[in-house]
Amino acid sequence: PLVLGIETSCDETGVGIVRGHTLLADALASSVDQHARFGGVVPEVASRAHLEALVPTMQRALDEAGVTLADIDAIAVTSGPGLAGALLVGVAAAKGYALAAEKPIYGVNHLAAHVAVDTLEHGPLPEPAVAMLVSGGHSSLLLVDDITAGVTPLGATIDDAAGEAFDKVARLLGLGFPGGPIIDRAAREGDPASIVFPRGLTAAKDLAAHRFDFSFSGLKTAVARWVESRERAGEPVPVNDVSASFQEAVCDVLTAKAIDACLSTGVKTLVIGGGVAANSRLRALAGERAAKHGIVVRVPRPALCTDNGAMVAALGSHLVKAGVAPSRLDLPADSAMGLTTVSVPG
Ligand code: ATP
Ligand code: MG
Ligand code: FE
Repeated sequence: PLVLGIETSCDETGVGIVRGHTLLADALASSVDQHARFGGVVPEVASRAHLEALVPTMQRALDEAGVTLADIDAIAVTSGPGLAGALLVGVAAAKGYALAAEKPIYGVNHLAAHVAVDTLEHGPLPEPAVAMLVSGGHSSLLLVDDITAGVTPLGATIDDAAGEAFDKVARLLGLGFPGGPIIDRAAREGDPASIVFPRGLTAAKDLAAHRFDFSFSGLKTAVARWVESRERAGEPVPVNDVSASFQEAVCDVLTAKAIDACLSTGVKTLVIGGGVAANSRLRALAGERAAKHGIVVRVPRPALCTDNGAMVAALGSHLVKAGVAPSRLDLPADSAMGLTTVSVPG
């Protein structure tokens, strides 16, 4: 099927077009520069930017794919979770296009789309698979038996998301927003073993109740304290070493728990999605550790890890092929959509 996907859950306006597992177009407009001076995404600013960017981004995607709206078999749109006002822009637009062109519409879960996007690069996802979703708002380990039916949470962060930790640490180091890519770059010039930062929820006493859960707020505080003590002593802060050591702590815990989840469930495929999956150290360490256990790691190229329209189209295409019924035209923008809902029922 030829499926168009619309993404507006945060600060990226994305329209992607796929045929089966083949990516034909992935048009993106970001309002990230408008949020940078606030150190985080401002919901009203994001909504307005979506409103301005949506129609041109739609046109760019259709041009890039060399198709017209009439050629499209179904329209998928992020229904949630995300910023309510931002979601509403995408959902309203998708409804308008679906109504005008008389196409079925699928309201889909943004987080499931972060997992499904990998199919565009590596083909159908072997099921069951363990999925690690690491993004700006979420950090979870999931068991995927059948992605059309929902996913089973194995664990999740009990405080900050991994991406949030990257953004906060970058902020306290004065590096800018979003912090993930900046820390990734700085870390390449630093020594990951220079400072030992805490690994949250990995002590024996924590593992009993939180084997597959994460905690990153203690790590963030430890980095803040370390930096403050340096500044108090009047010594320069070795930004590259702090970045590398912080990143190592995050990636160590994420990969150790992801592999543990695979081993404990007997699952041989680990798929990683979400913005933090773009991290170069996470990708390398996951591959290294998984190989030791005969586990195959699937992680899409960095540009598909952060928010985009292709991921929504990829999930939509999978739903169409699986014969899942489309959503109703009155589907909601659901800012708190849970992972048990992969698409809004018809
Ligand atoms: P969610 O998907 O939970 O709703 P979101 O859509 O805002 O949140 P994504 O776009 O998936 O999040 O990811 C953005 C996050 O990914 C940011 O926190 C950003 O710092 C982080 N990120 C992006 N690139 C990298 C990288 N190379 N290394 C680490 N983190 C990264
Ligand atoms: Mg973003
Ligand atoms: Fe996202």
